[in-house]
Amino acid sequence: MGNFYDVIIVGSGIAGLWSGYWLNKLGYSVLIVTKREVFDANSFYAQGGVTLALNREDVPLHIEDTLKAGWFHNNREMVELMSRESLHIRTELKKLGFHFDPGVTREGAHSVDRVFHKGGDATGRELHLFLLQRDPNYLMDNTIVYDILMEEDRVYGVRVVRKGEQFNLYCNHLILASGGIGALYKYDTNARTIAGELQGIAIKKGLPVRDMEMTQFHPTVFIQMEFAQKLLISEAVRGEGGKVVDEKGERFLFKYDPRGELASRDIISRAIYLHQKAGHKVFLDVSHFSEEFFSHRFPTIYKKLRNYGIKVPKQKIPISPAFHYHMGGIEVEPDSRVKGTQNLFAVGEVAYTGVHGANRLASNSLLECFVFGKRVAEGVAGTPLKKVKRDFPVERWLLMREEDKKWKNKLREIMWEKVGIIRNKKGLEEALEFITSARSEVGELTALRFITAKEIVKGALNRHQSLGAHYIETDSTPQNQ
Ligand SMILES: Cc1cc2nc3c(=O)[nH]c(=O)nc-3n(C[C@H](O)[C@H](O)[C@H](O)COP(=O)(O)OP(=O)(O)OC[C@H]3O[C@@H](n4cnc5c(N)ncnc54)[C@H](O)[C@@H]3O)c2cc1C
Repeated sequence: MGNFYDVIIVGSGIAGLWSGYWLNKLGYSVLIVTKREVFDANSFYAQGGVTLALNREDVPLHIEDTLKAGWFHNNREMVELMSRESLHIRTELKKLGFHFDPGVTREGAHSVDRVFHKGGDATGRELHLFLLQRDPNYLMDNTIVYDILMEEDRVYGVRVVRKGEQFNLYCNHLILASGGIGALYKYDTNARTIAGELQGIAIKKGLPVRDMEMTQFHPTVFIQMEFAQKLLISEAVRGEGGKVVDEKGERFLFKYDPRGELASRDIISRAIYLHQKAGHKVFLDVSHFSEEFFSHRFPTIYKKLRNYGIKVPKQKIPISPAFHYHMGGIEVEPDSRVKGTQNLFAVGEVAYTGVHGANRLASNSLLECFVFGKRVAEGVAGTPLKKVKRDFPVERWLLMREEDKKWKNKLREIMWEKVGIIRNKKGLEEALEFITSARSEVGELTALRFITAKEIVKGALNRHQSLGAHYIETDSTPQNQ
């Protein structure tokens, strides 16, 4: 391994691996750099599945469902492109030897069953492992990217730290596939590596980010566990009949939306949050499943809950909403190139393509990784560049300070309490003040998450009306919205 590659990809989730697969096919030398172990990515934890339009006739309906769930805040052309291209993905995966489980399932806000899964509720793990086993590229794990080497609109590489050593890696094209922002929130479902650092670098460099305030909270998460990453209870459990109830057994969601458990995530999360605030306890009742069926259909959830002493399916699962997904991100063109740059690309959850609008439709995220992962390779191929290796000095940055952990935890609490499911101007201003003052207390790597957090708060303050996942209280806000 040298230190110059045709392409460097930051991140070993499905977006990174799928981009790498196509780039290798096109003959590029590719290095994938990843923060910890290769599987330490949200992709590995995806449960429910991948949305794929069933056939040509289903494309318009999938588009409509995606737009509706996104409150029509989506970029319609990008949604159309994603839905059309979804028709090829199963064949592409099949050619490589990947087969989904038989049958498709339904998730919230889909009008038909079109979510393809594998290993029951282990779709992400199965897909991720499958792609990893076939990954032909160089891989550097336990390596954290903390800066992009850039002059004007051209990127030359990245600054990284590995086992305490800081050095530079150079490339002709750089792809950011570094995922979302989970670690910014106290309660979240994300892998521990996902902290919005590359978004922070992009903001520092003046690159365009968009819709940063659009943060999705998943309604059904088991949070009574010691790890920072909480256990998601897949939407497919509700899709297949799981009921949200309170301590009296009342299915209160219908007060908020006639679709009840099958309403979109933003609506259900808010309803549960408000019901809890009113003093109720909230559960997911899965007692209509037989134990045999539940343990086969949702083996991961079954095993994990049993380990925590919840005797599913008979016993109800205590649930709460938790941060789950970031619709906002680094703004890209249809070929995944970051707007205003020559050779910087972003793909997967880190990117803003506009497909999700104000609220992502369930299982559209892995679809986005596949569709735009392939397009990114085409984008790179469409940008032939003369190889220029420019040496940047290796600078020794103070990446972490002693008290960073304390500041990170404080940030997580503030983001949860003041920039969470229901926001108001006063809380957002308090969050902004905290973030601004704490920024100078932390090392340069930790500071990246504060920069990203600040942009989320600024976005929320600038959006005065509620829209999808961004819900802002005003004096006239009715309490059951
Ligand atoms: C519990 C859970 C269940 C989900 N279920 C589904 C589902 O059923 N269907 C669906 O469509 N979506 C689902 N999602 C969402 C989906 O999994 C993610 O949006 C998607 O996997 C993102 O893929 P990605 O490749 O963009 O990022 P990730 O898979 O998150 O990978 C990001 C990579 O970047 C690396 N990285 C981050 N920062 C740095 C850095 N500074 N330096 C170096 N490397 C870095 C990380 O280590 C990681 O390897 C789920 C998410 C979670 C958390």
